[in-house]
Amino acid sequence: MSSFTVLNPATGRGIREVQLADVAATDRAIERAAAAFETWRAVAPADRARLLRRFAAAVDADLENLAKLEVQNAGHTIGNARWEAGNVRDVLTYYAAAPERHLGQQIPVAGGVDITFHEPLGVVGVIVPWNFPMPIAGWGLAPALAAGNTVVLKPAELTPLTAIRLGELALEAGIPEGVLTVIPGKGSVVGERFVTHPAVRKVVFTGSTGVGKRIMAGCAEQVKRVTLELGGKSANIVFADADLEKAAANAPGGVFDNAGQDCCARSRILVQRSAYDRFLELLEPAVKAFRVGDPGDEGTDMGPLISAAQRDAVASYVYDGEGRLGAEVAFQGEAPEGGGFWFPPTVLTPRDPGARALQEEIFGPVVAVVPFDDEADAVRIANDSAFGLSGSIWTSDVGRALRVSRGVEAGNLSVNSHSSVRYSTPFGGFKQSGLGRELGPDALDAFTEVKNVFISTD
Ligand code: NAP
Ligand code: MG
Repeated sequence: MSSFTVLNPATGRGIREVQLADVAATDRAIERAAAAFETWRAVAPADRARLLRRFAAAVDADLENLAKLEVQNAGHTIGNARWEAGNVRDVLTYYAAAPERHLGQQIPVAGGVDITFHEPLGVVGVIVPWNFPMPIAGWGLAPALAAGNTVVLKPAELTPLTAIRLGELALEAGIPEGVLTVIPGKGSVVGERFVTHPAVRKVVFTGSTGVGKRIMAGCAEQVKRVTLELGGKSANIVFADADLEKAAANAPGGVFDNAGQDCCARSRILVQRSAYDRFLELLEPAVKAFRVGDPGDEGTDMGPLISAAQRDAVASYVYDGEGRLGAEVAFQGEAPEGGGFWFPPTVLTPRDPGARALQEEIFGPVVAVVPFDDEADAVRIANDSAFGLSGSIWTSDVGRALRVSRGVEAGNLSVNSHSSVRYSTPFGGFKQSGLGRELGPDALDAFTEVKNVFISTD
């Protein structure tokens, strides 16, 4: 066992030592989860539902503590962190209704009765990134447990604290030992073992597209089920007929929320050419008013980046080799100086459609604004990406809103707003943004196999 010093990204200082599991410890946890599966799958549906509701209540009672842990560990604003802890509670509550409603079918056939069952898979491995440690853990574990699986969950090395706490809350709520096991450790050790261990029957991965591809390739070896939620380069499309004031006022939140470390960040703003100059005029004061600072202050809009490495990666899109601002920087907001991993909200106006800032997921508070001519041009530019996770359309024309929504190759679109996530609606990506859907009414299907049984009446 080695250990890792968890840092507060707002100060750069250590807050806790966390023990990292090695392969042997991971194997023991997987084997306990496999043993627990045999009893958990047999728990009566109403009892499984009751336990999940008790888990939700325990999260609710601990909400302020969980939120403060996330402010410290991930630099999330306190308002966001409260929403995130509340999202775990809500996802557990939503899927607590599932065990008693997980209906099969009765299909008319000759000579007997044909019925289907949704059988749980077994042990599900959930691999969580550092950008939204609580919600992404909840989206995997809640439907997996509701469907009768047991879960081993690996938080990101940088942000294990809220996941560890969720594991404790599950036990306090009466979820049996081994049903949900949180295993802090390295991706290359614990995460890889989820892929190679034969008792893990499914891997749910959220993170970078590069690691996601490796996981998919590794899972192919055992035809292991996989759900992938990967990167994004989402377009915020603003038509000249939109409420431009409202579109500009909302654009910073659509990309700089969570310091841009959001797979749904609207990191490309496409503006119809006739409104382009006016939009930039309106955007500048909105960006400058975006409050970057102590994430524990109620009035803060944006905290620090997660790490020094992330800050350096983001800076490479904004500064040249000598540390001078790049020519494409239109304007920037403010950020604190000092110990934390701070970066100011930054607006770029690249000319070349192939520019890195238009093609790569920056995962920081950097947005690129580009003009377009007409509806077809907007859809073409929006789709000029390997990714397809989310996006927004701002227009006052309902027909156009629907046409463009159908034209954009992305899984989660919003019209005249920037919203991607509701626990009751499906979430996931087109193209290299992922595979499969989380949340919503159908997520249980991703954690079960359909079994068909024919009973002869002859
Ligand atoms: P990452 O390497 O993909 O990490 C995501 C999760 O996968 C972490 O828990 C990580 O563990 C684990 N992991 C890493 N290598 C693994 C492997 N070989 N097998 C199994 N699991 C493995 O992402 P990152 O390095 O933290 O971030 C890099 C970039 O990815 C970001 O800048 C961003 O562009 C993108 N990203 C996207 C999302 C998203 O929501 N779509 C989330 C995070 C990052 P460790 O923490 O121990 O390495
Ligand atoms: Mg990595």
